[in-house]
Amino acid sequence: MEPFQLKKAVNGVEYLCIPGIEEEGGLRAFFTTRRGGVSKGDFRTLDYGGYTDDDPADVAENRRRVYEALGITGCTQGFVRQVHGDRICSIRSEDILKENEFTINKADGLITDLPGLLITTLHADCLPLFFFDRARRVIAVSHGGWRGTAKGIGPKTVEQMQRDFGCRPEDITAAVGPGISLCCFEVGAEVYEEFKRVFPPIDECGYRKDDGKYMLDLKKINRIQLEEAGVSRVLVSGYCTKCNEELFFSHRRDHGRTGRMAAGMILLPA
Ligand SMILES: [Zn+2]
Repeated sequence: MEPFQLKKAVNGVEYLCIPGIEEEGGLRAFFTTRRGGVSKGDFRTLDYGGYTDDDPADVAENRRRVYEALGITGCTQGFVRQVHGDRICSIRSEDILKENEFTINKADGLITDLPGLLITTLHADCLPLFFFDRARRVIAVSHGGWRGTAKGIGPKTVEQMQRDFGCRPEDITAAVGPGISLCCFEVGAEVYEEFKRVFPPIDECGYRKDDGKYMLDLKKINRIQLEEAGVSRVLVSGYCTKCNEELFFSHRRDHGRTGRMAAGMILLPA
């Protein structure tokens, strides 16, 4: 069964929620779609922005609509300036909650236990990874493109949750969200060779085509990495961003000129 469920809010915003994480209560875990915003042209309509040439006023209105749809108006919005790396930031100081919004440079994930802080990564094909420790009530999101996946950003997020927040992997539910999938993710031999060096089971996660290129299943790679890290439950979305133009922006399909979806998690204030 698909773990990400499509919802339409009364204001028209359509987003995917993750019932397998939200069932614990007191938090939201979501991935936005392209539907229900005000952006135009290549960014129509719900571009969450951050890496696009979209009109900043339209992006601000789109974000406002998402907060309204989710009932999280007034939260502090945390972003990272993503660089396809493996640095993840732990946010523990309540001082940050005095800000409306902040962006951490050169990072690809955020972890927090602070209620009222929305942690966000931005996506247009690269995989969003979601984490929730139900025992310690710690949340995390990280950005797993092929480079981040080859660097093991999923297991590194889990390790940092353990180190900084005392989490145990067996208490963590993880979700691998919508992104470019086996059906569409073609790579050159150099990418395959890079994985071969760092991830021995790569042959279970893709195949070689007659033209010498490879099709890779990044979702499966992330799932195996997270299971090897001891995560008790890994939910994997079947949604492919490239072949689902109605719902998602796709960097590959749209040749780089496209919008962004947001992966977000927030612990709701008591
Ligand atoms: Zn596809």
